[in-house]
Amino acid sequence: MRIEEDIKLGFKDVLIRPKRSILKSRSEVNLIRSFSFKYSTIKWCGIPIIAANMDTIGTFCMAKSLSQFNILTAVHKYYSFNEWREFINIASENTLNHVIITIGTSDLDFLKIKKIFSLSSKLKYICIDVANGYSENFVDFLKKVREFYPDKIICAGNVVTGEMVEELILSGADLVKVGIGSGSVCTTRVKTGIGYPQLSAIIECADAAHGLSGHIISDGGCTVSGDIAKAFGGGADFVMLGGIFAGHSECLGDVIKEKSKKFMLFYGMSSTSAMKRHTGKVPGYRASEGKIVKIPFRGKVDATVRDILGGLRSACTYVGAQKLKELTKRTTFIRVSEQENCVFNHFKN
Ligand code: 5GP
Repeated sequence: MRIEEDIKLGFKDVLIRPKRSILKSRSEVNLIRSFSFKYSTIKWCGIPIIAANMDTIGTFCMAKSLSQFNILTAVHKYYSFNEWREFINIASENTLNHVIITIGTSDLDFLKIKKIFSLSSKLKYICIDVANGYSENFVDFLKKVREFYPDKIICAGNVVTGEMVEELILSGADLVKVGIGSGSVCTTRVKTGIGYPQLSAIIECADAAHGLSGHIISDGGCTVSGDIAKAFGGGADFVMLGGIFAGHSECLGDVIKEKSKKFMLFYGMSSTSAMKRHTGKVPGYRASEGKIVKIPFRGKVDATVRDILGGLRSACTYVGAQKLKELTKRTTFIRVSEQENCVFNHFKN
């Protein structure tokens, strides 16, 4: 039995140390980053934040709203081909530039992506998404997609260790999605005992990816904009968000009215709710690995986006990073045992 003794860290275990800075104002910070990729020759420019490919979050409506901020949306895999056709017919070029098409690893997924790409040459990104990116079958599928699409930007995941990041990059991924068990509505760590604290996963996986000219997406675990800053500070090239974008008008789901308050349901993609919605049942060999939660309805997503981008700009100002790209090299983490001062939290409404 081998036990790794060094402590692995999550966002709550660290803060970023402030540094001398010549920046006068947050408005001087540029969050737009230009990317070139290991395989694809496409250049992409934008804010490297991605709405998660969960069916409640990665909607066409979310893509339309977030593209106005140059933010990406990983559109979930449950839209039919006809729904894609209708969306592509009316979507602006800017929206299509901020769309990632999610697929699983079945032959039908492969067929579907071919049909979707035939509708528009403006679509650039594919995300091959599985809960467990450690399977041989997944790696073989990634190789097949890369062979067929030498020039698309391909994301693949999820994994949390450097050796598997390397394998996915060598098998054709431009971007590897990192995170197991850190999501806000995920119960994988409880159900299986498997997982990896997100900040350490980012630091280790970014190191592995960058050594091969690949990139990583930190997926899951960000609860506030400070966590997004820590993810970028730790070396993430892109950050994917589920819970932070939940409960908005752009999400899938009904607004539930109770007394004078409004709520929305948000659930994990491996929850009983999601499995029943998409397959009609929970297969006998599977257990739910996701939660269902009722959260306050927050209206349009714009205010939330402005809030997180403002927080990120402020983080950059504190360490003197004029561009988001500089945040990693200007970040020194300090280990802490305290975060927010919560003395007035019960007065929140
Ligand atoms: P969040 O930003 O909400 O903390 O995390 C979002 C991520 O959680 C998603 O992108 C996905 O990787 C993960 N996730 C979503 N639903 C589930 C689920 O039901 N089970 C697990 N294990 N992970 C989930």
